[in-house]
Amino acid sequence: MAEYNKPIPQPDPHSQPFWDGAKEGKLMLPRCTTCNRVHWYPRLICPFCHSRDIEWIQGSGEGRIHTFAVQHRAFGGWADETPFVTAYIDLNEGDRMMTVLRGVDPNKPETIKCGAKVRIEFEKVSDDVSISFWRVVEGG
Ligand SMILES: [Zn+2]
Repeated sequence: MAEYNKPIPQPDPHSQPFWDGAKEGKLMLPRCTTCNRVHWYPRLICPFCHSRDIEWIQGSGEGRIHTFAVQHRAFGGWADETPFVTAYIDLNEGDRMMTVLRGVDPNKPETIKCGAKVRIEFEKVSDDVSISFWRVVEGG
């Protein structure tokens, strides 16, 4: 495990299934059993139909870039990594996840394509937390 000098998320009971999956390299997603829609981020109430009946499913870990931005300024440990690219990912299962995008050149944003296929990957940053990133795998 490399030195990780950025804020480490604090899992809570509502997001714990995501973090448990992340430690095993699996993307776990909350899905409403009333309307069957996946939503991101984890919530107690479905944002689409307001049901409290939420289950967790294993996602494919694949999606496509919805949009992205090159970050030239950042705080804390992230400042050391500028420029880097953040993106919204359209999950194959529905809804969107914000991420730091890997496998792209922030100095050549014209080479990054909305709609490019991406895959999730996880990086262990503490004994309890692995953080997700997404990487372009096709069409970037
Ligand atoms: Zn719902």
